[in-house]
Amino acid sequence: MKKVYSTEILANAWNIRNVLEQHDIESVVKNENLFSVSGEVPFLECLPEVWVKPLYFARATQIIAEIENSLEDSGPDWVCNDCGESNLSNYSICWSCESSHEARPTAQ
Ligand SMILES: [Zn+2]
Repeated sequence: MKKVYSTEILANAWNIRNVLEQHDIESVVKNENLFSVSGEVPFLECLPEVWVKPLYFARATQIIAEIENSLEDSGPDWVCNDCGESNLSNYSICWSCESSHEARPTAQ
């Protein structure tokens, strides 16, 4: 497995995993449990990370680069209708309950 992404925001790691899944790329989020007890562990050692098989590494990094570009011109955050969690505008599905965000507002 190879690490393709790390973030200070656990929801970002889940979003990356969700998007990769939509591209049929299997991935795992590491350190999501460590992160929840981050008072106990050195901060930099417990950043959430997304790992994929080496086979998918090049494609995954490309997709992640596109996601990060889309963050630049993101619109307003949206709130999930199902669980009430806030999501960044570029999340197409809820990071928490994975329900899709159909009525996504368009910035144009
Ligand atoms: Zn939700």
